[in-house]
Amino acid sequence: MLEVRNLSVKYGAYTALHGVNLTVQGGEIVVLLGANGAGKSSLFKTLSGLQRPSGGDAVYNGQPLTLGRPERCVALGVSLCPEGRMLFPQLSVEKNLRLGAYLHRRDAAGNQTELERIYALFPILADKRADPAGSLSGGQQQMVAIGRALMARPKVLLLDEPSLGLAPLVVDQVFAAVVRVNEAGVSVLLAEQNAFAALGIAHRAYVMEGGHVTIEGSRDELLHDDRVRSAYLGV
Ligand code: ATP
Repeated sequence: MLEVRNLSVKYGAYTALHGVNLTVQGGEIVVLLGANGAGKSSLFKTLSGLQRPSGGDAVYNGQPLTLGRPERCVALGVSLCPEGRMLFPQLSVEKNLRLGAYLHRRDAAGNQTELERIYALFPILADKRADPAGSLSGGQQQMVAIGRALMARPKVLLLDEPSLGLAPLVVDQVFAAVVRVNEAGVSVLLAEQNAFAALGIAHRAYVMEGGHVTIEGSRDELLHDDRVRSAYLGV
């Protein structure tokens, strides 16, 4: 289980996270809703060891994630798929995927098995394995970014705004892929501004505003919450 306990993050005098508490249980898809600047990426950077918190902590199965050591977070089973995908556009799809397996670089056979598993999840990537990642469509590039994170063999996938810049039909395809990843045994913490699509696949969700968690509940509770409906679902 991933447990975030009273986590605060400061950038100089600016406080981006004010004592955030949340959990992700094994097998869950947990959605984190929030507008630009709500603090979702700051949370993800902290959970992946890229940002040290100013207070509180986060643990995965009792082990700290907040020591500022990303390689340790990945080794514990927490893997980040960053906002903006951050692919190497000139490298092939397969080379991008293999970069995610850095910690397992001595396990060639295991990495080949993982690669085949990812190609089974995203068959289009198998067809395009030799193409430069930058030549793929936005949705396909998002699948490469997810696949690269999966090559680290995570137990928890931190997925930051995968729908950004994608057409609605493509968003549905990416979210369907996230469900398949979850069904394959990976817990998912999904930060999204696209509340409607994200809640469609969530077990539970949190709303963040100004660095605070302001609402939490099951998918159905959030879908029926008047504040969520007016601020995030446009109804
Ligand atoms: P977005 O979807 O735009 O990424 P977000 O919810 O992920 O939004 P964060 O990126 O975590 O939000 O940013 C939270 C706040 O912290 C914002 O006001 C942002 O300007 C600020 N911030 C983020 N990174 C830094 C930084 N390195 N230095 C100073 N301020 C920062």
